[in-house]
Amino acid sequence: MTLNRQAIYNYMEGHFRDYYELSSNISVTDYFIQYGSVSLIEFTNILQYPDPFWFTYEDKKIPVFLYSNANESENKLNFDPFINGFFFLSGLQEHIIQERDIHQRFPFVKSLQYRFNFLHLPIVNIYFELLAQHLKKFNIAVQQKPLGTKSKSHMIITHDIDRLNSGWVEMIGVSLRSKKISAFVPIMKALQQKLTGSDDYYTEAFYKLLHFEKQQQIPSVFFFLSNKSKKDGDYDVHSSKMQNIFSDIFKNNANIGLHAGYDTFQNSQEFERQINALEKACPKTLKINRQHFLRFDIKTTPDIYKELNIQTDYTLGFPNDYGFRNGICGPFHLFDFNNHKSYNCIEIPLFFMDNNFINHRESFNVNLFFENLNWINKHFNFKVSILFHNTVFIKIKYHDAAPIFYELIKYAKGNNLLY
Ligand SMILES: [Zn+2]
Repeated sequence: MTLNRQAIYNYMEGHFRDYYELSSNISVTDYFIQYGSVSLIEFTNILQYPDPFWFTYEDKKIPVFLYSNANESENKLNFDPFINGFFFLSGLQEHIIQERDIHQRFPFVKSLQYRFNFLHLPIVNIYFELLAQHLKKFNIAVQQKPLGTKSKSHMIITHDIDRLNSGWVEMIGVSLRSKKISAFVPIMKALQQKLTGSDDYYTEAFYKLLHFEKQQQIPSVFFFLSNKSKKDGDYDVHSSKMQNIFSDIFKNNANIGLHAGYDTFQNSQEFERQINALEKACPKTLKINRQHFLRFDIKTTPDIYKELNIQTDYTLGFPNDYGFRNGICGPFHLFDFNNHKSYNCIEIPLFFMDNNFINHRESFNVNLFFENLNWINKHFNFKVSILFHNTVFIKIKYHDAAPIFYELIKYAKGNNLLY
């Protein structure tokens, strides 16, 4: 893999201008001290440094990883926001760090965001903002663009539908473990669901959610697995039950996209088979996707999106914690290292998912989460996705995540973030 400064600067300046209204006559890269050399070795060395340099933005300490003060000049911003931002935004971090978890995913604990505790900060936006503030010193008009369709920021509510038919099994398991006399009722109801084919607990949960969103007029996005297997969905998209579900979603003015299955992230044939299956079952499916299990391989998945013309992807977040995997709090493009330019597919960051809470109930601080969200909302226009599975909306295993959903909706409504 080779890197060249001009391609990196073009890519980063393109993103800067996506986020800021700015006259096209200005040569942005003249306003900061350009980092000395640009090579893969230089970026790889970031991981060896004991500590970054710390800058201040508002009340936060901001790490800058590539920094040289050799030719410091009063008229220039004293670090290179584009070279530093590129490491996160482009996906380079995930190319350089080779470790993967049991699902072959890039592990959060290997990231610099984890090591220096800044996943919740949109580091690339902060670099951009420091640059914008610097430009303002020269009386250059520069301001953040709105990112919502009707408002400055947009929180897209999304739901991955993994399970609709196996709530009865889980209900029996949970009820038996509770050893209470009252557990008899849900067990009987679960058995009755199974025997009579009436709606399963997880279908009930889905409809509870759909009904709530209809009342609240939330234009959410539902992602469906078109592959039925142990690793993927427990439903058949071609069944009449699913036809009803699809049409009920459209009645809500919500949208449907693909939840590409476990074995698609490195396999374009399988990916294509699954898109075709969903499009056959539901022709109004959009060319949008989120990977099941958030399985995303920086070396292959973006090329599959390119080949199959996926327009928007909602995968890039971490299952372990909330925040910004690519350092940015809005739409962006990954960098195609073979062709030295942006991929076309739009990435919408996955800022928060229910599993961030479910996997860390003991340590998850809900107040801090809302404080962090509020800080972002105060300083930046943003556009991110939020993910809740239908399975949290019924009292079985994960229902303690539902209050966070309702609180988030209240926050989003109060701050005009839903459109
Ligand atoms: Zn899934």
